[in-house]
Amino acid sequence: MGGGQLGRMFVHAAQRLGYNTCVLDADPQSPAGLVSHHHIQADYNDAQSLALGLTKMAAMCDAVTTEFENVPAAALAQLALSRPVAPSAACVAIAQNRIEEKAHFTACAGISGVNVAPYAVIETAAQLQAIPANLLPGILKTARMGYDGKGQVRVKTLAELATAWADLRNLPCVLEKLMPLKAECSVIVARSFDGKVVSFAPQRNVHLDGILAVTHAYPSNMPAAQAMQAQVATELIAHHIDYVGVLCVEFFMVDDGSEYGCLTVNEMAPRPHNSGHYTMDACDVSQFDLQVRALAGLPLPQPRQHSPAIMLNLLGEVWFDAHGQPRTPDWQAVLALPGTHLHLYGKLGPRPGRKMGHLNITGADVAAVMATARQAAHILGLPGLEG
Ligand code: ADP
Ligand code: MG
Repeated sequence: MGGGQLGRMFVHAAQRLGYNTCVLDADPQSPAGLVSHHHIQADYNDAQSLALGLTKMAAMCDAVTTEFENVPAAALAQLALSRPVAPSAACVAIAQNRIEEKAHFTACAGISGVNVAPYAVIETAAQLQAIPANLLPGILKTARMGYDGKGQVRVKTLAELATAWADLRNLPCVLEKLMPLKAECSVIVARSFDGKVVSFAPQRNVHLDGILAVTHAYPSNMPAAQAMQAQVATELIAHHIDYVGVLCVEFFMVDDGSEYGCLTVNEMAPRPHNSGHYTMDACDVSQFDLQVRALAGLPLPQPRQHSPAIMLNLLGEVWFDAHGQPRTPDWQAVLALPGTHLHLYGKLGPRPGRKMGHLNITGADVAAVMATARQAAHILGLPGLEG
C-alpha cells in the first residue's frame, strides 16, 4: 500500500527474493509503481476507487504491507479479513494519531523510563483556554497527517497559539513544549508474527526545518547507555501493541544540563524509515529485507552492520544552482569518491523539500566516512554536516 520511495525499496528487496509485487497508488508515475510487477491505480481518497483497488489487491496478493503512513486503517482491516497484513490496522492507527501515539508511549514509559515531552491535547476551545503557560514556547502539531515538519506551527504566546490552531482549522492537535535538543536519534526494529524482535543499533539524526538531512550510523554516534535505553524502549513499544513488521521510533536527547541529555520519545513510523536507509549498504540485511521477511513469515536474523555509514538525504534543492536555475547534480564527482552509494527514487519533478534520493557513504572507519561525506556534501551543496 503506497507508491513512494519506501515502497520502491521494499519492492526491490521483495523481488530479490523472487517475489512478485503489487503496488496500490493513484499516481501512474509513482516510484514504487514504476518498478512493481503490478500497479493498481486507485485513489486512497475516493471510496469507490479504493474499494475496487482493495478487491483487486486481495485477489492478487498473498500478504499486504504498507509504506504509506496515512493509508486508511480501515483498508488494512478489510484486507486482513482474507490475507496476512503487517503491520496491523490497529498498530497503524496508533501511529497515525499523535494523541494515541503519546498515550501508548506514556503507557510504556512506566517500564522503559523514557517519557514523552510535556504536552497537552487540544480538541476543544475549552482545552485551548486551559493550556498551562509552561508549555510555551511550544510546537502545535496536528494529531493526524503530519510528516516532514508539515502540520506544525511554532508558537510563543497564548495569542499565537489561538491563531495557529485556527489556521490549522481547529483540527485535533497536540501542543508540545519546545525542548532544547542536544541531539536526535531513532531505533529501527523488526518484529515477527511470533513475537521475535531484532534491532538495528540506534542512529543519530540531524533534522533541518523538520526534515531529516543526515543520519550518522556507527557505534560512537551516541553514548552507549542512551543507545541501550533507546533500543529497549523501542522493543517495548513494539511488544506492547503486538506490532508485526519494521517499526521506527524517533527520540530526542533533551538538554537537561547533564552531559548527554535526557532521552525522550518523539514519534513512531509503522514502516521502514528514512533514518534506516544506510542499512541498504552498511548492513548484511537491510530494513527493507527485514520488512519482506516479517511479512512473508521468514526468519528474522539479527542484522549485522559491517561498515560505519553516513546517509545524506537528497532533497529537491540539490537540482537547482545558487541562482535557482535547474541543474543536474554532479554525480560524476560524487561517485568518484570511495564508498558512495547513490539511490535515486525516479521522481520527475524536483521541488524544494521533496525527497528525491539519498547518498549512503560507507568506509573502513568513521574518519574515512566522515571525510568522504564532507566532500560529497560540498560538491552537492548539502547542509547538516557542519560542526
Ligand atoms: P514529523 O512527523 O514531521 O517528522 P516530528 O514531531 O518528528 O514530526 O518533528 C519534526 C522535527 O521537528 C523533529 O525531528 C525535531 O527536530 C523538531 N521537533 C519536533 N518536536 C519538537 C519539540 N517538542 N521540541 C524541539 N524540537 C522538536
Ligand atoms: Mg519525525
